[in-house]
Amino acid sequence: FRIYGTPITSEQGRIIGAVLTIRDITDIRRLEQMRTEFVANVSHELRTPLTSIRGFVETLLEGALEDPEVSRRFLGIINHEAQRLQQLIEDLLSLSRLESQPKRQDAGRADLAATLDRVLTTVNQLAREKGVALEKEIPAEIPELAISESYLNQVLLNLIDNGIKYTPAGGRVTIRAARLGELVQVEVADTGIGIPPESLPRVFERFYRVDKARSREMGGTGLGLAIVKHIVESHGGSISVTSRPGQGSHFFFTLPIAAEEGGRSNYQEEPG
Ligand code: ADP
Repeated sequence: FRIYGTPITSEQGRIIGAVLTIRDITDIRRLEQMRTEFVANVSHELRTPLTSIRGFVETLLEGALEDPEVSRRFLGIINHEAQRLQQLIEDLLSLSRLESQPKRQDAGRADLAATLDRVLTTVNQLAREKGVALEKEIPAEIPELAISESYLNQVLLNLIDNGIKYTPAGGRVTIRAARLGELVQVEVADTGIGIPPESLPRVFERFYRVDKARSREMGGTGLGLAIVKHIVESHGGSISVTSRPGQGSHFFFTLPIAAEEGGRSNYQEEPG
């Protein structure tokens, strides 16, 4: 709280009272603190790959360049770190674009099965290399969703990519969908390492990772789920997760179905 005081004086100039204004600044404080933390996090995340790149470049310049085998290995690491930097910057831009848009998106429409197929094509190779099977169970009667295809693509890609990343060889990532009234619920389930219960409420926070080292090693930025949550919620949906360490995780999100083409929506919001 912040308290402001103004004295009340009598005609003779004596102080006979005061007006106190009490302002609750908890929210402002909290926002300031979140912003400070965010900037600190971003700086740290940017500095880590940069430090590594500079270290390897210096070692090369100091003579390691003479050894072709060492050079090749170091350049591989530099390349990898540069890719991480790029991914991080792209994720940060995605987030800031999302945040600068008004709360509810004026949607667009996307076909879940078709978008999912495109995403599966993108991640197929990664899954094959890791020995993780991809499966889908999408009923034919799922209607179109009120979201642009590129946003839906990003949501599915981030969730499925995580499923593959955090699932050891021999495991499985399954995508299911079901209609729930005027919403469609999509589930991305894996048989991977799972998430400890104390971390579950935090995985959608920016830069939160259960295991920083592991996430980095997998090329993660810690922003993927924050982006997913933002997209889903700004389209009128919601997201949740259940998980059992050692058994796997289930991410569920909902999105409203699109209005019937050319006609009116079969769902109308209450006026006011
Ligand atoms: P990252 O880029 O690190 O994967 P995300 O925002 O996508 O960041 O996820 C945040 C954290 O949540 C991850 O670092 C990981 O610890 C955990 N996580 C996300 N998805 C899964 C999953 N399918 N299985 C286990 N842990 C997960």
